[in-house]
Amino acid sequence: MPSTAASRILEHYRPPFDATAVKKIKEMGGIVVGKTNMDEFGMGSTTEASAFQVTANPWDLTRVPGGSSGGSAAAVAARQCMVSLGSDTGGSVRQPASFCGVVGLKPTYGRVSRFGLMAYASSLDVIGCFGSTVADAGMLLHAVSGYDRFDSTSSKQDVPEFDTQFLSMDSFESKPLKGVRVGLIRETLEEGVDSGVRSATQEAASHLEALGCVVTEVSLPSFSLGLPAYYVIASSESSSNLSRYDGVRYGNQVMADELNKLYECSRGQGFGGEVKMRILMGTYALSAGYYDAYYKRAQQVRTLIRKDFKAALDHNDILISPAAPSAAYKIGEKKDDPLAMYAGDIMTVNVNLAGLPAIVLPCGLVEGGPSGLPVGLQMIGAAFDEEKLLKVGHIFE
Ligand code: GLN
Repeated sequence: MPSTAASRILEHYRPPFDATAVKKIKEMGGIVVGKTNMDEFGMGSTTEASAFQVTANPWDLTRVPGGSSGGSAAAVAARQCMVSLGSDTGGSVRQPASFCGVVGLKPTYGRVSRFGLMAYASSLDVIGCFGSTVADAGMLLHAVSGYDRFDSTSSKQDVPEFDTQFLSMDSFESKPLKGVRVGLIRETLEEGVDSGVRSATQEAASHLEALGCVVTEVSLPSFSLGLPAYYVIASSESSSNLSRYDGVRYGNQVMADELNKLYECSRGQGFGGEVKMRILMGTYALSAGYYDAYYKRAQQVRTLIRKDFKAALDHNDILISPAAPSAAYKIGEKKDDPLAMYAGDIMTVNVNLAGLPAIVLPCGLVEGGPSGLPVGLQMIGAAFDEEKLLKVGHIFE
């Protein structure tokens, strides 16, 4: 099958091997039925930045499915497949899961091998799982997890039985989550969040309380710094990663009489507008005169965000927040306003900066479309504690 990352530069590219995650699915008997649409190289939040197609949201065909892994989320929501993979660099599994009303799981950085995944921002990229239930997403996570010598950042941590743990779980008790400490992140319910999303999140918190959880409000003081830091780091890493698409080593080549011209034309015609913008921003941030002001500063913010999460997770088993500030919006609505689109990633990017696992699952509907629009709840856990997220998520749903 071709692997294009939804980019013209890889339009007819056929990879010579399977990614480790795909290989593992096949080894477990899974059948790969297709590849799905996405924002070019994972850069976007709507799947509109694909060079090939626009993907609609199955709940309302005039709305976006989210992104960048919008095709994977839409395919599960439309029941075209049972589970799917996506990549989550700053929320690209969790936000489309929220917009499409399915479960989206972002594992801990290092839990799933990135070998064969096309790199966007290597210190943030994670392969994630979609399913229509928590158990389905857990089963897929089980299939793809584990150490891989072909990815130097993959972890040797034991992989628990994500797929069978649900069988032994008794969710018929009246308080199956008794004593589980849940921190509701205060900064995620402030201005800029739609009222319907806010009330669905608060209702989810009450539901968790009814199941026995102890819910308290927690504060992550550096929360709002995450978004600008993320865009500096992600653009910087992508400008470096995407230098491999030079028209010589991979993908499409535009012939020219001089080598630099060949690079220029191949990249100029191969990359779409959003990708070019990210490469320019990243190159700028990494340039000698600006490195300290942007890239280094963003890495310092990253440390603050990690510390905030650590402090909050020292006193809580999981943290909760909305998965996105709004439900799915109209196709075209934010296409010409990249900053408004970037702002929609505020709930998810910090989790990537800290490398933590998180799951998004449907928690309500807001008005819109023919039958309402889904809203997702995000649950964030400590590193390598996906098991707790799956357990709490399964009982919650
Ligand atoms: N929307 C974010 C971005 O454009 C996140 C993308 C992702 O997770 N791949 O960078």
